[in-house]
Amino acid sequence: MISFATRREKLRTMIRRAQVDAILVTDFTNVTYLTGFTGDDSYLLVTADGATMISDMRYSTQLEEECPDIELVIRGPGESMLSTLAGVIQIGRFDRLGVEAGSMSVTLWHSLAAELTKTKLVTTDGLVEKLRIVKDKDEIDATRLACRLGRRTFEAVRALLKPEMTELDIAAEFEYHARRFGAQGLSFKPIIAVGPRSSLPHARPSTGKLGDGEFALFDWGVVADLYMSDLTRILVTGRISPKLKKLYGVVLRAQLAAIEAIRPGATCEEVDAVARKIITKAGYGEAFGHGLGHGLGLAIHEAPRLARNQKMKLRPGMIVTVEPGVYFPGWGGVRIEDDVLVTRDGHEVLTDVPKELDDCLVG
Ligand code: ZN
Ligand code: ZN
Repeated sequence: MISFATRREKLRTMIRRAQVDAILVTDFTNVTYLTGFTGDDSYLLVTADGATMISDMRYSTQLEEECPDIELVIRGPGESMLSTLAGVIQIGRFDRLGVEAGSMSVTLWHSLAAELTKTKLVTTDGLVEKLRIVKDKDEIDATRLACRLGRRTFEAVRALLKPEMTELDIAAEFEYHARRFGAQGLSFKPIIAVGPRSSLPHARPSTGKLGDGEFALFDWGVVADLYMSDLTRILVTGRISPKLKKLYGVVLRAQLAAIEAIRPGATCEEVDAVARKIITKAGYGEAFGHGLGHGLGLAIHEAPRLARNQKMKLRPGMIVTVEPGVYFPGWGGVRIEDDVLVTRDGHEVLTDVPKELDDCLVG
């Protein structure tokens, strides 16, 4: 049984510290985190001793199945979300109601404030997001599954690659195989970038053909039990040039060293610096223009960020990507990405797709 009640209890401690009587959770990912409900368009009111979901009839059956322990208020046809929300909040007679600054729209803020004449709206920032940084056992298990299915998907796609396939064809194969293996889908639009297109860190798949380049970059991930994986691998489809060989070696060395530096107490910027130092020393510092990695979980990008000026200390249960990359417009880019769990005495790499250069040769 996933510990949603435990998560809500932790949030209540934060609510008290923020000096509010209750919090209205409007970020749908946060609602999922706190209840297990996988739909959207529903808000959660967490009070000192209860939790109420405000939704509509499209979701009533799903809500009863996914979060039977949550009190439900289903707005009737013709009734607006605003008036239902205001009604539920008024019953609580709160002096101060916390709202999520990161997700509540300005429109909703103004309309709610106008309706709730006796309740002051107080902005809170990132309370639930803070809880989400450290994963519990259920979240770690789900991420492990997403990493396993991510590997299976890649292996299946790799086995059917042909020079005449376009980036778009390959992206479609990723979609298909991820679902065939039981994933809920891909965790983001996959990046399939042949040759020079790989110098765009977020390239969109095009009609460019796999056989037209020396190598291609694949950045993909799958969703399993709502949690995500995120990997990047290079596959060499032509003859390896000395430049690719050299760059690949530097990026891999930087990635392995950064992973080695992951342990409780290390700060995010320290881990970033380990990879950055190796790449800079090799003369490619300018070509590594993004942070080293990001947290992942219910969202593909969440805290913590492994980057410069990020002072947060790593703690057991955090899951981060480690993805150094170097990019040369017109030539291409090399990035290698894995997902890493911070453990009590160090780290565990959750993704296990081989990544030595010899493992990356196809054809
Ligand atoms: Zn990625
Ligand atoms: Zn990533």
